Amino acid sequence: MNKNSSNIMALAPNTSNKRETVCIFGTGDFGRALGHKMIQSGYSVVFGSRGTQTPRLIPKDAEVLSHTEAAQKAAIIIIAIQRQHYNFLTPLAEILHGKVLVDVSNNLKINQYPESNAEYLAQLVPGAKVVKAFNTVSAWALQSGTLDASRQVFVCGDDTKAKQMVMDIVRALGLTPLDKGSLLAAQEIENYPLQLFPMWKFPILLSLGLVTFFFFYCLIRDVIYPYVYDKKDFSFFIAISIPNRICPILALILLALVYLPGVLAAIIQLYRGTKYRRFPDWLDKWMLCRKQLGLVALAFASLHVLYTLVIPIRSFVRWKISSRTIAQALNNQTEPLNTTNAWLSDSYLSLGILGFFLFVLLGITSLPSVSNNVNWREFRFVQSKLGYLTLILCTAHTLVFGGNRFLSPSSYRWYLPNAYMLSLIVPCIVLAVKFVLIFPCLDKPLTQIRQGWERKPQYSE
Ligand code: NAP
Repeated sequence: MNKNSSNIMALAPNTSNKRETVCIFGTGDFGRALGHKMIQSGYSVVFGSRGTQTPRLIPKDAEVLSHTEAAQKAAIIIIAIQRQHYNFLTPLAEILHGKVLVDVSNNLKINQYPESNAEYLAQLVPGAKVVKAFNTVSAWALQSGTLDASRQVFVCGDDTKAKQMVMDIVRALGLTPLDKGSLLAAQEIENYPLQLFPMWKFPILLSLGLVTFFFFYCLIRDVIYPYVYDKKDFSFFIAISIPNRICPILALILLALVYLPGVLAAIIQLYRGTKYRRFPDWLDKWMLCRKQLGLVALAFASLHVLYTLVIPIRSFVRWKISSRTIAQALNNQTEPLNTTNAWLSDSYLSLGILGFFLFVLLGITSLPSVSNNVNWREFRFVQSKLGYLTLILCTAHTLVFGGNRFLSPSSYRWYLPNAYMLSLIVPCIVLAVKFVLIFPCLDKPLTQIRQGWERKPQYSE
């Protein structure tokens, strides 16, 4: 037995009991893959096809008949055919009357047709019970058994019994059905596989916007300003210095933005005195992409680490150190060790290392293969408690890096503060509000609200 088939076997929960016969219209990639998997799971499969000669790739235990003959053999018919060919079903309407038709189709574009494919199928064969399912599972995943990340199968339909029958098949194949309601949900289910990284859009666009802003900000302060005032050419800062300023700034701001919606949600719940009212749409969407925001933040933090590692071998840095040493030799002076500076420098580095370590830990625990192995309490502990600790360490790392430069007038060029000072605004706000929220006078009612308690409105109409 080859590797693929052993995977398929692993996903099939029950191969001993013989189940009912299921008909599949279409012997294409998807029809064959689904048929193969169903046979593995104990179903009898009969294919309805335009050509009734058994093609080479058809599972050997399956029968291939004409559409009419095949439809008569089963109560459930899976339509594994592209929507544009559905009109061949109209003459079969009488045979298909009362049958459960499973629409598995996808489109090439979001909202390609005014109605969903499943609703279109229901219009073509009005006497049938149409159920939408399986469209988010690929033929390749069914065949190779690599369904770890996509075991969920969205199911919708107007007939509850028909939907239940399809959900039973889904379960028998070792997949997880998710009831999405009536056939009206089919449009949304069909659009789902066409979305390109929907949760990544906001984090990536936000990062691009912030990178552009901070790039020009640093360019003005660190390259244009010295050129205008001292005629010094620091344009080479664009290669390493400026990216190494932007990366930690982005990492810190994005990490704070992971925790800001939670804090806002807490304020809204406290204000409303209930958790049973929906958050505004923008907040809902923001909360849904927190993991992606965190992973982008981790990517920027990792780049910061790499850029920092090359600092000692940079020509500019080596020149600066040697000129300082030569200047001391020429003036016959030795700079004494400044213990305060040494403390500040070591503390800032240590905070950065610890912050990055926890950052990586957060990233690892957000991976499905890891998060599936911890319980909800452990996951919350890592993502919330350790997450806040990471934010505190990274904020402290930036604060100590600034040291006493925050108040020094030389830190301001054209009245513009150092870019890292700007990066502290959001994290400091998040940490300050979170600190206030842990006071018992706020934490207690918030916990009660989250457990379902509601504040009664004082005035009723
Ligand atoms: P395919 O390989 O092109 O197969 C489609 C089958 O439809 C053909 O093998 C043919 O079967 C039948 N057919 C073609 N023209 C026809 C016509 N004029 N009249 C009647 N039957 C016709 O497509 P597929 O990849 O299997 O996809 C089938 C459906 O599954 C599509 O709606 C697709 O959106 C959906 N789907 C596919 C995947 C995937 O990974 N491939 C994943 C999810 C959903 P016969 O020669 O036996 O008649």
